[in-house]
Amino acid sequence: MWSRRHFLETISALPLVGGFTAASTARAATAAGRKGGRDYFAELGVRPFINAAGTYTAMTASLMPPEVMAAINYASTQYVMLDELHDRVGQRIATLLRSEAAMVTAGAASALTLGTAGVLTGTDRQKTVDLPDLSGMKSEVIIQKSHRFGYEHAVRNCGVRLVEVETRDDLERAIGEKTAMMLFYNNNNRVGRIQDEEFAQLGKKHAIPTFNDAAADVPPVDNFWKYTGMGFDLVAFSGGKGIRGPQSAGLLLGRKGLIEAARLNAPPNGNTVGRGMKVNKEEMLGMLVALELFLAKDHARENREFERRAEVIRSSATAVSGVNAEVFVPEIANHVPHVRISWDGADEATAAAAVIAMRDGEPSIAIRSEGNALVVGVWMMQPGEEKIVARRLRQVLEKKG
Ligand SMILES: *Cc1c(COP(=O)(O)O)cnc(C)c1O
Repeated sequence: MWSRRHFLETISALPLVGGFTAASTARAATAAGRKGGRDYFAELGVRPFINAAGTYTAMTASLMPPEVMAAINYASTQYVMLDELHDRVGQRIATLLRSEAAMVTAGAASALTLGTAGVLTGTDRQKTVDLPDLSGMKSEVIIQKSHRFGYEHAVRNCGVRLVEVETRDDLERAIGEKTAMMLFYNNNNRVGRIQDEEFAQLGKKHAIPTFNDAAADVPPVDNFWKYTGMGFDLVAFSGGKGIRGPQSAGLLLGRKGLIEAARLNAPPNGNTVGRGMKVNKEEMLGMLVALELFLAKDHARENREFERRAEVIRSSATAVSGVNAEVFVPEIANHVPHVRISWDGADEATAAAAVIAMRDGEPSIAIRSEGNALVVGVWMMQPGEEKIVARRLRQVLEKKG
């Protein structure tokens, strides 16, 4: 007789459900079966993959360590007052990161919105209700032209207008009565005419708060205090990238009065620009524990492991004739070893096709292409997966060569 369970098993084993191959379904089911639980992704027809790309939101970025999950589970069984937890977790994080104050946000983008909101409203409750209507508030945020970036919307959510400048003289001329804040995109430090330290000093000179978006810029760990130490009034980090906290968490560090003001623009306060950026108690504890683990970690040792994985992939790729590969470390964001792979006659289309072949293969592997090259990030892989990635890449590259 067909039990419901038998029926579901049969359905989920069909090759065409959600584009699954029977083999990958079986593999996933075995993995879940080992843990004795439901295989939710298989039930939904969602296909997991090896992350050989990096901390990309679309790929769900990073995996949380068991200690973080333990904190999340712990928090899920008891009620506490949200503001009280916010206060205590914020104080703990501020101490750990040598900042005057800190808060957990719903990601770095949320930190950008809430920090900007705090700068605009201060502790005036009416202003937190009025945003993004800026009547009676300042309305301009200065940014270097070379720092325009893909997360500005988080700042503009508060109703402000971005004012572009290039040189120090431009910037000083642009400062006026409407200037609320100066925004800095940390990854573009060297590209801009005004670099981090000078930018922070200019803010101080003109009494304009400065905000540095350093979302993806740990490791190294000391970046947590480098920029506040330099004089930036606010600094944002993602919680779910290198720190491996909840994907929906982040950190806003900075001056006490500004963090207090940012908090007023966030839940539990209801009628605010940040109301949709709730951080629940589970994420708050998860973020704190992820940060503690990240700080306690032997980063030099971990980096040697990343170098080793990168070398496994590089040497396997270059064994294919006509293929070139090199290990590189991005200077600021994602400052860990990556592998760049290209081949004779490579172009954007063949590189993109190789990404798809890897994603559609068995097992599914996510990598990225950049122009004519493939880029492999090794830090979000699970231990041992570098061998699987190296083998599959070689198969795909052999077809190109
Ligand atoms: C990833 C990123 C963000 C967004 O971070 P979330 O934590 O996903 O909100 C913002 N700014 C920069 C520079 C980033 O790299």
